[in-house]
Amino acid sequence: MPGFEIFGAEERKQVNEVLETGVLMRYGFDGMRNNHWKAKEFETAFAKRMGLEYCQLVSSGTAALTVALSSAGIGAGDEVIMPTFTFVASFESILALGAVPILVDIDDTLTLSPKAVEAAITSKTKCVMPVHMCGSMADLKALKTICEKHNLILLEDACQAIGGTYDGKPLGSYGDLGCFSFDYVKTITCGEGGAIITNNEKYALNADHYQDHGHDHVGKDRGAETHPFLGYNFRISELNAAVGVAQLNKLDEILKTQKQNYSILRKALETVEGVTFRRVPEGGVENYSFLNFFLPTEELTKKAHKALSEAGVDACFYWYTNNWHYINGWEHLRNLKSLGNLSSEVKNQMQDLNNTDFSKSDAVMSRTISSLIKIGWTEIQVSDRAEAMKNAINSILS
Ligand SMILES: *Cc1c(COP(=O)(O)O)cnc(C)c1O
Repeated sequence: MPGFEIFGAEERKQVNEVLETGVLMRYGFDGMRNNHWKAKEFETAFAKRMGLEYCQLVSSGTAALTVALSSAGIGAGDEVIMPTFTFVASFESILALGAVPILVDIDDTLTLSPKAVEAAITSKTKCVMPVHMCGSMADLKALKTICEKHNLILLEDACQAIGGTYDGKPLGSYGDLGCFSFDYVKTITCGEGGAIITNNEKYALNADHYQDHGHDHVGKDRGAETHPFLGYNFRISELNAAVGVAQLNKLDEILKTQKQNYSILRKALETVEGVTFRRVPEGGVENYSFLNFFLPTEELTKKAHKALSEAGVDACFYWYTNNWHYINGWEHLRNLKSLGNLSSEVKNQMQDLNNTDFSKSDAVMSRTISSLIKIGWTEIQVSDRAEAMKNAINSILS
C-alpha cells in the first residue's frame, strides 16, 4: 500500500501553497489563505471519485471510524459486529464511544462471515462493520440483506481496499457509510488522515459538526457559531490535506501498477499445486494491494512463510501468529486492559474473548499468507520475486 513510494514534486507543490500563506487550518482565515482550501478540495474530489454526495476528511482512519459511528448515533451499550481479522482501529473506535465490539468469525473471503454476523445479532445490535482487509471485500450483498432485515447500519471499513469495487460501486460506497485511512502506509497517504463517505445527508452533517467540537459551521464568525450537540476534535490540517490532494490524482495510476504486479505474482503461484487463493465475492474487483493465498495446512503454511523469508522474499505476512491484525495478537483486548475504568455497558456486554470459539477463523487464518504489492518494483524485480516465491513454496509442498 504504497502512497509513500511516489511522494514527489506534486505533493511538495500542494504543501508549499499552504506554507506560503501560513494558514494551516482548514476553517476560517479567509482573507489570508489566498483561496487555498485543501481539505475542502480533497473532499469534493474524493466524493466525486467515490460516486457519493458527501465526504468528510478527518485526522486519521481511526478517527473516521469513530466519527462515522458517532454520526450514525451509535453510543454507550450499542453493539457493533466486527471481524476477528482486522486492524485494531475497529474495536478502538467502537470502545471510544462506549459502544460494544462483538467479534465474529471470518470466512475464506478473509472478511466477515455473513452467517456468523446473523448469529451474533441481539436486540442491542446497531451496526455491522465489515473490514475489506488486504485489498478485497466482504460479501456486501449478503451483509446488506441482513442489515435491511434487522434495521442495522452497514459501515464499510475500506481503509485497505481503496479503489476496489463491488457490484460496480467503489468499495466504501455500498453501505450506509464508508471509511478510509490515509496514514503513511496506505494506498494513498496524507501523512496522517482519514475520510468518511456517505449519501446520507444527516450523517454527513453530523460528521461535519462532530469532528470539529460540534461547530455548526454556519456563518463566518467561528466564535459565534452554535453547537447543536457535543463533539470532539478530529480535524485534519491543511498541510496533511494538501498531500492528499496530490496523492488522489495518482490513485488510478497506482491501482493500474498494483494490478500488473499482482497479476505476475498470481500467475506464478497458480502453477503451484496446493496453493489456493482468497475468495473474492461474486461481483467484486480487488484493489490488488495484496496477494492473499492459502496453503493446505497450518504446518505447511508456517514452513512456507519461513522458506519465503529465507529466500529473501520480503513483505510476506503470516497474520495468524506474527502480527497484530488477528485476535491472537490482541491480548490487551481479550483481557480488557484499559488505563482507566471502562463503562459498565462494555464490561457487562463484551464477550469473554479468551473463551469464545473462533476455530472457523483459525482454520482460515492459520493457512493464509499475504504478500504486499509494491508499485516501485521494476519489471525484473517482480519477475524475480514471482520465481522466488514459486520456488520457495514448491520446495515445501513437493
Ligand atoms: C490503517 C487502518 C485503519 C486506521 O487508520 P489510521 O489512519 O492508521 O488510524 C483502520 N482500519 C484498517 C483496516 C486499516 O488498515
